[in-house]
Amino acid sequence: MAVEAQSRSSRVFDRSVFALAIVLTAVSAASAFGRSEPAVDDLRLILLLTIPVIVIVSRYPVLLHRSRGVIEIGFDSCVLAFLGTLVPAYDGALVWALGAVLAQTLIRRRLVAKLFNVGVMTTSGVAALWVIDWLGPEGGPVQVGQFVAVLVGCSVYFVLDFVISEVSVALESATPHSDERRSDVLLSMVSIVAVDSLGYLAALVLLAVNAWATLLLAVPVATLLVASLSTARDREGSRRMRVLFDVSRSVQRQTAADGVLDALDSGGRALVRAQPCGIRDHPAQAGEVGARITDGSREWWLVTPVGQRNPAAVRADREHLDQLALAGSEALSRLKLTREMTFLARHDILTALSNRGVFLDRVEDALAGTRRDGSTVAVLFCDLDGFKQVNDRFGQSAGDALLVRTATRIGACVRRGDIVARLGGDEFAVLLEDVQDVGVVEQITASLLEAVAAKTDVNGHPMSVSTSIGVAGSDGSVSAEILLRNADFAMYEAKAIGKNCVVHYRPEYGTARVRKLEMADALATAVQLDQLEVVYQPVYSVRTGAVTALEALARWHHDGREIAPTSFISLAEETGLVVPLGERVLDRVADDAVRIRRLGLPPIQIAVNISAQQLIAPGFVDRVRDTIGALGEQQLVLEVTERDVVREDSLSHEVMARLVADGVQFAVDDFGVGFSSVGYLQSLPVHVLKTDRTFVTGIERDPRAANLLRAMLLMGRALGLRVVVEGVERQAQLDHLRTIRNEVFAQGYHLAPPMPVAEVLDLLRASRQLRAPVTAG
Ligand code: C2E
Ligand code: CA
Ligand code: CA
Repeated sequence: MAVEAQSRSSRVFDRSVFALAIVLTAVSAASAFGRSEPAVDDLRLILLLTIPVIVIVSRYPVLLHRSRGVIEIGFDSCVLAFLGTLVPAYDGALVWALGAVLAQTLIRRRLVAKLFNVGVMTTSGVAALWVIDWLGPEGGPVQVGQFVAVLVGCSVYFVLDFVISEVSVALESATPHSDERRSDVLLSMVSIVAVDSLGYLAALVLLAVNAWATLLLAVPVATLLVASLSTARDREGSRRMRVLFDVSRSVQRQTAADGVLDALDSGGRALVRAQPCGIRDHPAQAGEVGARITDGSREWWLVTPVGQRNPAAVRADREHLDQLALAGSEALSRLKLTREMTFLARHDILTALSNRGVFLDRVEDALAGTRRDGSTVAVLFCDLDGFKQVNDRFGQSAGDALLVRTATRIGACVRRGDIVARLGGDEFAVLLEDVQDVGVVEQITASLLEAVAAKTDVNGHPMSVSTSIGVAGSDGSVSAEILLRNADFAMYEAKAIGKNCVVHYRPEYGTARVRKLEMADALATAVQLDQLEVVYQPVYSVRTGAVTALEALARWHHDGREIAPTSFISLAEETGLVVPLGERVLDRVADDAVRIRRLGLPPIQIAVNISAQQLIAPGFVDRVRDTIGALGEQQLVLEVTERDVVREDSLSHEVMARLVADGVQFAVDDFGVGFSSVGYLQSLPVHVLKTDRTFVTGIERDPRAANLLRAMLLMGRALGLRVVVEGVERQAQLDHLRTIRNEVFAQGYHLAPPMPVAEVLDLLRASRQLRAPVTAG
């Protein structure tokens, strides 16, 4: 129920009532209206007796309690009966008006309320006195006719008072009063008869005995007033406590915010009863009391108008509404917390998408549906390509922003009702229900590939990250877990065949993937336990035949066999293991370099292969500096494949520059197969070119191959780079290289295979002995 502050029309009405009262009093005084002779001439005595009574009774109405509410019974008409019987209307009106003004002056209340109260009381009272005066019989007050006149006059008072007050309240709250109030009116009317006869009796006692005897009548009346007042207060207090208790209990039991607000709304009405009261979304204004209800973010107000009530009653209302509001706020906060916790348990906080658990539930539901109606569901497993690099290079907040954007983009590609979830990290899943034909899936996955990979700007960094998508469909014969796992297998296949594409699940992907996962586990253990070995392959100067460098190569024995480095290195790159693996290799090289130094030979180069991920890994520069320290005079060369070195990646170029400043050299590995343009060789800090094995295969018989290699050597020379020809497997190839006039280096099985450090030491010792005579000569 909406409760508003005093309206304009009610203000106008209240003021008119006050003006009317002034007019009526003035007319009564001026016209000397009334036919009757005064029964008592001493107006001062009348004033003395009635004014205090008027003040007291208008302040303390007798309150009758019924189950449905309280009824106020005023003793004011008792005074009217007294006045009407003893003095003519013009005297009575003045006394009454004076009493009304005094009574309201002594009460603490807003001025508008006081003026209105004076207005109502005076208007109704003066009218009642006129009626009594007019109806009163000739020949003195001790007759039935006078009693009847008193009753009629007092009824007029009651009715006028009631109607004016009701109109004012109705104008203020724009809500009519219920029938309940009307039955109260009847009860009040009946009680008037008793009250009026008391006033009439007092007048008779004054006439028959004296003023003193009349005063004695005040004793039982005062006792009655006090008793009624205190029980009224107690009963109203305990009633309100009961309401508060009931409402508090009821709001705690609610399971929805609406229920709590409804309970507070009806609780507020039950509390203030006679007044309108209700919940709305703006605070109390002038002429209202209100209490704020909040669940921590939203706000409501429980408001009731002040009306004509006295300050103590208004204070009680405020306190009790506050208590209701407090109970309500607690209940609402609890419900909000529960809602938030349920949301958190079911959603990903970052993207607000469903989480894995919810997604699996929904897939399970969908599968149950397909078993019933024979439809098909499809699950898409999307994994961003190269998300880790975004995190490494631009920081986690950029990564988070990218994930949120990706979530929105995925959401925009699917149909209404399709479920999108974030499974964790950079993995998203989509559930497509009721897939009629493959076309739908193809259309959605195609738009997903395009939307996710679209260029975007994250925290000021322009970037574009593609996604690999695996698709698995089911007619209900598998579980949700299996369906999601199949989509995952298909996604891995999509990664394996080059990323940024869609692959539909086939059973063989599963077996391959399981094997790969097992391998990844085993490799992680091997790295952790430092079980990898490092072997060294010598690099020779073609002209002098001396060993000029050693290339460190990692070896892994697993299940009794040697795993090809190409396969475990790419597995390590996929799983991020390549960073710790590379650290182990650097440590091992540092240890072995100490042994090589002890030989006391002229320093040689030691080359270590590194992956792009290592270059940008935090702490890499420091790690390499440690290795440089251990190497001493030996030159450290880091080999990076052409593909990795050319990446448009300012961070890795920066790291390269820092390391070069520390004395490290860089070699471009597998040169010639990775990239078409060689312009980068001029801008990057590169010192060595290692031509890919394929270029040496046919040089001894194919002139074109020979020319190509020669061209590469020329280019290297022009750029001031050393060139190492890799993959020399035959003497003929070496012979051919010898025909080249430029300084050239060679590496290959024909010269020396990769070997453990102990063999390298032997080889180097032997080469010293071999070379000694040459140097000496
Ligand atoms: P790569 O850097 O090109 O290393 C040279 C590879 O050629 C080595 O294979 C070596 O054994 C092989 N090789 C040497 N001479 C000949 C030859 O005459 N003929 C043929 N056909 N091959 C020859 P390996 O040891 O199997 O290593 C393969 C690749 O694994 C390496 O290629 C390198 O890219 C990577 N790798 C090896 N160790 C590491 C490492 O510690 N870290 C990183 N990031 N990558 C490594
Ligand atoms: Ca290499
Ligand atoms: Ca190579």
